Amino acid sequence: MKIDNAMTVFKELPKTNCRECGAKTCLAFAGAVFQRHKTIGDCPHLDKAVVEKFSDGVKLPEAHRAYLDEFKKMRHEIINVDLPDAAQRLGGTSANGKLIVKVMGKDVSVDANGKFYTDIHVNGWLERPVLTAIVKSKGLPVAGGWVKIHDLEGGKPWRHMFENQCVTPLHDLADNHPDLFETLMHVFSGSRVEGHMGSDIGVVLNVLPKVPILICYWKAEEGMNSDLHVFFDKTASANLGVDALYSVAVGLTQMFKKIAVRHG
Ligand code: SF4
Repeated sequence: MKIDNAMTVFKELPKTNCRECGAKTCLAFAGAVFQRHKTIGDCPHLDKAVVEKFSDGVKLPEAHRAYLDEFKKMRHEIINVDLPDAAQRLGGTSANGKLIVKVMGKDVSVDANGKFYTDIHVNGWLERPVLTAIVKSKGLPVAGGWVKIHDLEGGKPWRHMFENQCVTPLHDLADNHPDLFETLMHVFSGSRVEGHMGSDIGVVLNVLPKVPILICYWKAEEGMNSDLHVFFDKTASANLGVDALYSVAVGLTQMFKKIAVRHG
């Protein structure tokens, strides 16, 4: 059975708010499971039968499911793509039948069958956006104007999910790991942007050469909470597409979490 909302999980919990799972309350734990920050098995007080009942995980939101379905079809389209042309559109190069492009600052090669050659670990959140860009990117030059996901063409339906799955967890990470941005710049060849909209820290990460993401953080001050926003270049929907942007941003957030845990 798939988890389709947080209350489905909450109903099964002991509701003692014992905090052994690391969440402040059982309700917070249920929300974290639905947002895939925790798994239901992280509550040590559940019967094995309950954990097994939800072993199918969380039901994906409609828009994301549609993207994954479309991607399955697109996976076969790469064979018809002119790789040297795609390399130019993406801001990469081509040689020996492969397209070579920097992904998060690291060299990645892809052949005509969509096979990846790289030193970095390739999983779905990385593979899908790169192949999507090879097939669909319009290759517009970066415009230099930063906007939020809901301001991009087709971005409005993704706003809520993006806040839940990317912005909120990144905000928590930034609050709890002051070195996060230095680490990101180091690991992903990011570059610093000074004072965008008055932020204390701004880091640009290049998912692809023509698909930059700007993460801005405002530190807490007296009487003011901290804040975090994620911006995309105005051309992002033409150069990658909002669905693939969502996929990569959530994948990055999960990876940042792992890095933050490793670096304490
Ligand atoms: S460990 Fe289980 S019972 Fe305790 S707070 Fe977490 S979800 Fe609730």
